[in-house]
Amino acid sequence: MDKEKYCKYRIIDAHAHIFPEKIAENATVNIGHFYELPMTGCGMSSKLLESGRKIGVFRYLVCSTATSPHQISSINSFIAAECAANPEFYGFGTTHAGSEDIAADAEQIISLGLHGVKLHPDFQKFDADSPEAYKIYEVIEGRLPLLIHCGDNRYDFSAPQRIANIHRDFPNLKILAAHLGGYQRWDEAEKLLKGDDTLKFDVSSSLAFLTPERAAHMIHTYGAENCFFGVDFPMWCHEDELERFFALGLSEDENRMILADNIMNYIGI
Ligand SMILES: [Zn+2]
Repeated sequence: MDKEKYCKYRIIDAHAHIFPEKIAENATVNIGHFYELPMTGCGMSSKLLESGRKIGVFRYLVCSTATSPHQISSINSFIAAECAANPEFYGFGTTHAGSEDIAADAEQIISLGLHGVKLHPDFQKFDADSPEAYKIYEVIEGRLPLLIHCGDNRYDFSAPQRIANIHRDFPNLKILAAHLGGYQRWDEAEKLLKGDDTLKFDVSSSLAFLTPERAAHMIHTYGAENCFFGVDFPMWCHEDELERFFALGLSEDENRMILADNIMNYIGI
């Protein structure tokens, strides 16, 4: 990509996955199988930084999801250690609707210096608006922002309607709705969700599937001030996603907001 295009912008990647080196290869392959998509990278910190450096990424929101409750504590410790080793990282921890002690998970996240919670209801196999999941939001509302995977045609765990329900019932919970609010369910998402002070959207894992006109339309429906750039590494690489982002033809102001300013203002990244 031509450097002129991006070097005038500060860029934050609002959605990146990292795994311990021992399992990174396997974890990446498993995500590829789950989504039936070829992976472009390998979910290791070093690879993430290498990919992001090509477009001058300045900070990364890094996370990992506990597919079962017994992984929560070690994943949170791993993310915290990676953040300590890489000043570019801004870490989100995780918990699970099946956790025996969600309050303790939140305490661990806060005491490790992590900044929010990542949930992936489709991997974690619980309805995002179930009574069990609501226990998480009760604990973190007003304390930790929530990055939540949204949407999949094959499952209903994280359907846009469920995200709308969470937002309605927890008005002070800062939500970052991934994938423009509903991977593969963008029509529903656009109908049901609206950006505001506590509901924001990242554009990750969306731009390869939507026409630039459609993606730009969604961003304008949500409000450009409510959207963040994110790559969902290792699904995609930074150069390709930034190229897709610039193809939307947004204004310079909108580019600046979505590439960094919005998320800096929202969660102080
Ligand atoms: Zn994710």
